[in-house]
Amino acid sequence: MLSRRALARDDVSSVIDLVVLTALDPAIAAVAIRDTLVVLSSLDAPQASRRTVLSHARAEVWRQLRARGVHADTAPEVRVDGEPLAALTPSERTALYLFARLGLDASEVGAVMDLRPRAARHLRRRAHVAFVRAVTALALAVDLTPCPVRDAIAARGAGMLSRRDVDALTMHAAECRICIDWLRRADGNAITGYTALPLPDASAITLVVADLVRVPDDEYRRIVTRAGAMRRDGRPPREPRLDRDPRYWLVRATVFGVTSVVLVLVGVLTLGH
Ligand SMILES: [Zn+2]
Repeated sequence: MLSRRALARDDVSSVIDLVVLTALDPAIAAVAIRDTLVVLSSLDAPQASRRTVLSHARAEVWRQLRARGVHADTAPEVRVDGEPLAALTPSERTALYLFARLGLDASEVGAVMDLRPRAARHLRRRAHVAFVRAVTALALAVDLTPCPVRDAIAARGAGMLSRRDVDALTMHAAECRICIDWLRRADGNAITGYTALPLPDASAITLVVADLVRVPDDEYRRIVTRAGAMRRDGRPPREPRLDRDPRYWLVRATVFGVTSVVLVLVGVLTLGH
């Protein structure tokens, strides 16, 4: 029989919360939550630190998304009647969660996401902008106030908005007398609405804990092995940078090809995070 450490309910709650708000898909979230809790219950330490708990939740939900072709830096298309968070990359969603919902500082977020504090701050800004833009664009896409420019951009993707459409709609709103109000509203309310989302309730936590007990030994062993060798402080192995979406590298390569040597150097420096 494998040793399975009992988990604190607060830790289970944190795992559910991070995973649900990063995965945005009940089926993916269910697997990632179970796998995270399996890994946490296998750790030797009597009590996992919060950064360890969050690191494992982050690693497992990214793993499940990656298995479905959604990499940490993939900006998915979002349905016009969808959830604004869905327009964010998984790493932006995780950063938004850690900074805005938990109020962690850049070095704590960096420890969870394997980023230097400076890169974590940069990602916080990017995630915030992406979220406000997504809220604005989705509101505009279903808005019935007549604006021909807005109509044209919103109609481009036939019910889906790419990151480019989201940006185009927001840029348009910034300079359109009819559409500007949506941008102002999103800028003032988006993050407040996000942080006010309810926490996992007691019955969800009980259900997840009960489910964990039923994981068979061979399945349990497979999940723990797959998680890899833990770092000394209990965090999962470092996130390999090549896990990024291949398209990300392609875009970087194209940009590098057409910019000056100076800009390439700047690009290399920012890549170093
Ligand atoms: Zn307009």
